Amino acid sequence: MTTPILPTSVIGSYAWPAWLHTALDAARRGEYGPDDLRETQDDAVDMAVRDQEDAGVDIITDGEMRRVGFFTAEFYGHMTGLRELPPRRKVGVVGHDQRESYEAVEPIAAPEGLGLLEEFAYVRTRTTRPIKMPCPGPFTLAGRIKPGAIYRDRLEVAYALAGIINRELRALVEAGVTFIQLDEPSYAVHAQAGSPAEFVRLFNQTVAGVEARIGLHLCFGNYVGRPVARRTYRPLFPHILDVHADELALEFANREMAEIALWREFPSDKTLAAGLVDVKNYYVETPEDIAERIRRALEVVSPEKLTITPDCGFSQTARWAARAKLRAMVEGTRIVRRELTGTA
Ligand SMILES: [Zn+2]
Repeated sequence: MTTPILPTSVIGSYAWPAWLHTALDAARRGEYGPDDLRETQDDAVDMAVRDQEDAGVDIITDGEMRRVGFFTAEFYGHMTGLRELPPRRKVGVVGHDQRESYEAVEPIAAPEGLGLLEEFAYVRTRTTRPIKMPCPGPFTLAGRIKPGAIYRDRLEVAYALAGIINRELRALVEAGVTFIQLDEPSYAVHAQAGSPAEFVRLFNQTVAGVEARIGLHLCFGNYVGRPVARRTYRPLFPHILDVHADELALEFANREMAEIALWREFPSDKTLAAGLVDVKNYYVETPEDIAERIRRALEVVSPEKLTITPDCGFSQTARWAARAKLRAMVEGTRIVRRELTGTA
């Protein structure tokens, strides 16, 4: 993988074009056949790839355009053994508590996999850039599955999912994937209540035998642009550095760079994918804003160990803003590359 110093990337999801909302509404009403829907989602991936390439992003994703939201029914829809539960709140301002959830009624399985192989098979034909495959982690996915009479608690549900995800990740590597990112916002959300050492054990079991570059994305939640946690990573440190991951992807921009010094306090060999673009703010950063944040990050991490990303996925951001923010991210990175190397 030949990427420049300070490679730019994304976390995973990309902003939806207006027509995708309209198309999915029509599909939900039964107006689309499966071929219509596949064509629509292929087109959406093409658009997400093009926006990232136009902006000049080095390591891209398929925008998670086939996933309706971050880890919604797309994933649970691939699982058997679940019963859907209606949301506890159905009216008023949109929020996490309005999403559907599930209860385990049998041991959970995913006989056809989770859909990531199909995602990769398509996107690899649509770009020559390095591809990262994001995948929700088991603890986060378990957050919307009640254990029922099958499992003891959320952690036991998570371990059941870890086996399913591990099989999917190994199959991805066999298909040619070289970079996988597990998304586990729930670690940061539950760090105070849960045990960081248990998260590490769960993570390492999930990626056991997966021969690829592994990233771990930790954030504080982004559904409808709202965090759901005390926004601190400190309770996870230093335990989280024991995860078998090559890179941690953390959010800093939305917190005005708070806790970036944790990286100096707890040195590691891991790469830091620093979130330096605020996906929850409609203020569009200038390239110089981004350059300034990169310089702050370089006070605590060497340039060889730093990747530049947005805080989180763009699925909750309007597309015009996502495009402008990606362009600023790349331009800002080029400013600092010139300072470091004399070239960009
Ligand atoms: Zn995130």
